[in-house]
Amino acid sequence: MTGLPTHARVVIIGGGVAGCSLAYHLAKLGWTDILLVERKQLTSGTTWHAAGLIGQLRASANMTRLAKYTADLYARLEEETGVATGMRQCGSISAALTSERMEELLRSASMARAFGVDVEEISSGEIKRRYPHLEVSDVVGGVFIAKDGQGDPANITHALAKGARMNGVRIVENAKVTAIRQAGGRVTGVDVAAGAETARIDCDHVVNCAGMWAHGVGAMAGVAVPLHACEHFYIVTEPIPGLGQLPVLRVPDECAYYKEDAGKILLGAFEPVSKPWGMEGIPEDFCFDQLPEDFDHFEPILEKAVARMPVLAETGIHTFFNGPESFTPDDRYYLGEAPELRNFWVACGFNSIGIQSSGGAGMALAQWMEDGEPPFDLWDVDIRRVQPFQRNRTYLRKRVTETLGLLYADHFPYRQPATARGVRRSPLHEHLKARGAVFGETAGWERANWFAREGQEREYRYSWKRQNWFDNQREEHLAVRNSVGLFDMSSFGKIRVEGRDACAFLQRLCANDIDVEPGRIVYTQMLNERGGIESDLTATRLSETAFLLVVPGATLQRDLAWLRRHVDDAFAVVTDVTAAEAVLCLMGPQSRDLLEKVSPNDFSNSGHPYGTAREIEIAMGIARAHRVSYVGELGWELYVSTDQAAHVLEALLEAEPELKLCGIHTLDSCRIEKAFRHFGHDITDEDHVLEAGLGFAVKPEKGDFIGREAVLRKRDAGLSRRLLQFKLEDPEPLVYHNEAVVRDGEIVGTVTSGNYGHFLGGAVGLGYVPAAGETAEALLASRYEIEIAGQRHAAVASLKPIYDPQAERVRM
Ligand SMILES: Cc1cc2nc3c(=O)[nH]c(=O)nc-3n(C[C@H](O)[C@H](O)[C@H](O)COP(=O)(O)OP(=O)(O)OC[C@H]3O[C@@H](n4cnc5c(N)ncnc54)[C@H](O)[C@@H]3O)c2cc1C
Repeated sequence: MTGLPTHARVVIIGGGVAGCSLAYHLAKLGWTDILLVERKQLTSGTTWHAAGLIGQLRASANMTRLAKYTADLYARLEEETGVATGMRQCGSISAALTSERMEELLRSASMARAFGVDVEEISSGEIKRRYPHLEVSDVVGGVFIAKDGQGDPANITHALAKGARMNGVRIVENAKVTAIRQAGGRVTGVDVAAGAETARIDCDHVVNCAGMWAHGVGAMAGVAVPLHACEHFYIVTEPIPGLGQLPVLRVPDECAYYKEDAGKILLGAFEPVSKPWGMEGIPEDFCFDQLPEDFDHFEPILEKAVARMPVLAETGIHTFFNGPESFTPDDRYYLGEAPELRNFWVACGFNSIGIQSSGGAGMALAQWMEDGEPPFDLWDVDIRRVQPFQRNRTYLRKRVTETLGLLYADHFPYRQPATARGVRRSPLHEHLKARGAVFGETAGWERANWFAREGQEREYRYSWKRQNWFDNQREEHLAVRNSVGLFDMSSFGKIRVEGRDACAFLQRLCANDIDVEPGRIVYTQMLNERGGIESDLTATRLSETAFLLVVPGATLQRDLAWLRRHVDDAFAVVTDVTAAEAVLCLMGPQSRDLLEKVSPNDFSNSGHPYGTAREIEIAMGIARAHRVSYVGELGWELYVSTDQAAHVLEALLEAEPELKLCGIHTLDSCRIEKAFRHFGHDITDEDHVLEAGLGFAVKPEKGDFIGREAVLRKRDAGLSRRLLQFKLEDPEPLVYHNEAVVRDGEIVGTVTSGNYGHFLGGAVGLGYVPAAGETAEALLASRYEIEIAGQRHAAVASLKPIYDPQAERVRM
């Protein structure tokens, strides 16, 4: 007898902090029949040995919201459950040793204010006052967050487990899930080995909270969960007399954090090159295990720490700890329903911040499971961002050597991963490389981000100020505005939807009217029931029964999942054809002249109007030319079978040897001048399509579609906020993302995306501003500033694109 039930509504796999938090929150929502199974004992994986730092400020508003929720939850858990959590809001200091780091801290302080986190900028003297043992002569300054804290990870988890049990959750230890059963694309149950027996449990939902085992648990279900364990180190000193209670201290430039606990110092490391672990699999009997010490590996951190805190030189080391933790390719954890399998959920891959993340992650996932949709934008951590290839373990092992250290690395804008590169390449890759391309990576794709000049270093020199490619971008940008430039956008996600019901199916999903003549291209969004934007795309009608949907490369898996989830019984087949075609975008006022040199087709306004796609002959090949533009100029996107892509590029370059090759940075700087929205930043599933200013692409009169009711309701109720475009008056400062938007002296929001408007002559950003009951005139009559690293800069605000507001240039 295993003592396990034969049925549960949900089986949660894993009794670490993530699994226990989810169980706690589902039970709070009133779920019953919740079963949590743990292969050994609660906390015995990674949770028991965490350092217990609990910070509040994360890189986006919603991640910060979750981290704040976590801190509040842990603070009240003790009273609720009677289990002491050790939670102490002792504050935290982050100290900068360079001016670039200081800029990062100051920028994050501005962001924190916009997110409602109390942050104080402090001088090196003030750091010394609050942390007397520190050597601060080379400290530039820092920030202090009063409500940050620390807690006891194992006890927090036991408190969550107790809270869960108090609300009816059944927790079974020494019970290991060995198989996940499914039918019709849905989870149906799990097999659980307990002692010598195996129980078969039917269930409606399974949640993978298996920490560093989650990759393997995902594989049982055919679900990609790309993560890999790395060794993670800290030491604990002997007691230091007179230490007193201290805030948590981070010195990221020395890859170190310090936590005072019971008169001792815990010193932890986020070294730049970390050690993957578990390549041959995790030992079956792993339970509260430690990994072998590696003093040589830790020594460089310790050496700097001793110089930073000289008292450490006289203090013995009580514990040298090395434990495994799971890391993901982009340093962000995974939450949500797997795109491959319905009702298979994940909460894992916590990249050494699982304690501070799990309270919020458990709450958000529970709500997501309850409603069937995320409670707010969680794209940062959504499992649907995963690319199928990323479950490859060689790739993961290489990449995670870097992700651990990224936690404390400078988080420069445009920073690219240095490891595990080159997996997905356009057929033009080598051609572009030979012509100076400097590549960045998105969704595994190598994409030309900018082009170096002859003799120029082909490397990024990162900074918060102008980076070394700023002038290259300017030249590319102006070529697009004044003559013609070529972008390789082969990384676009391309989805073919075909079949007798394709049109009706897409009409139900898209907010715009896609029942158009073959050859027409429609810009549209797919909405959720709240009117939020699930997908931003163009739909090209190829024939009566076939459509090509073009989406950003980064959202392809999410978009495929959305389509497949809704196809139901419709006679329509959804196929990913991304790799079948390369996309060469020829953009600029002279693009027509150039095309006419290589193609006999008619590119006039009457022969090939804006918003249409035509098959063309080009050099000796065939392409489909789509007349659309994401940069706001006359131009064509050439969809070329991958085998002919290089030929077409060569023909274009032969016809126009001076043709300017342009990178993704220029695509972005051009689109921001046109205020074109970028999914994941300016528009998300939380942003109502009307408030995003995309009402022109919504056609409620066409009949029913998902989100229509929400659109009509919003039309009646009026907009509560609006997306504005801002251009800084001073040409010097740079805007990236998350800078505070200030209206008449008060912070009212953040910049959702930003870049430099080389044509307009200043930084440009987009951002939402509360606008309930206000007219457009009243909104624009205010005085706007953007706060960057604590400094406020005057900005012009506009509801229409500042560049070419009448969209005349695309119709030239
Ligand atoms: C040295 C170190 C210091 C850290 N410091 C901090 C910190 O200061 N702050 C912070 O926020 N985070 C910190 N972390 C990270 C934090 O510990 C982790 O992110 C967190 O514990 C992960 O929790 P989890 O529940 O996802 O995984 P785990 O705790 O590993 O739980 C997963 C559980 O799943 C079980 N399981 C696996 N497979 C199965 C199966 N098939 N059937 C049943 N059960 C299964 C395992 O036995 C395990 O108990 C630190 C990590 C390390 C290594």
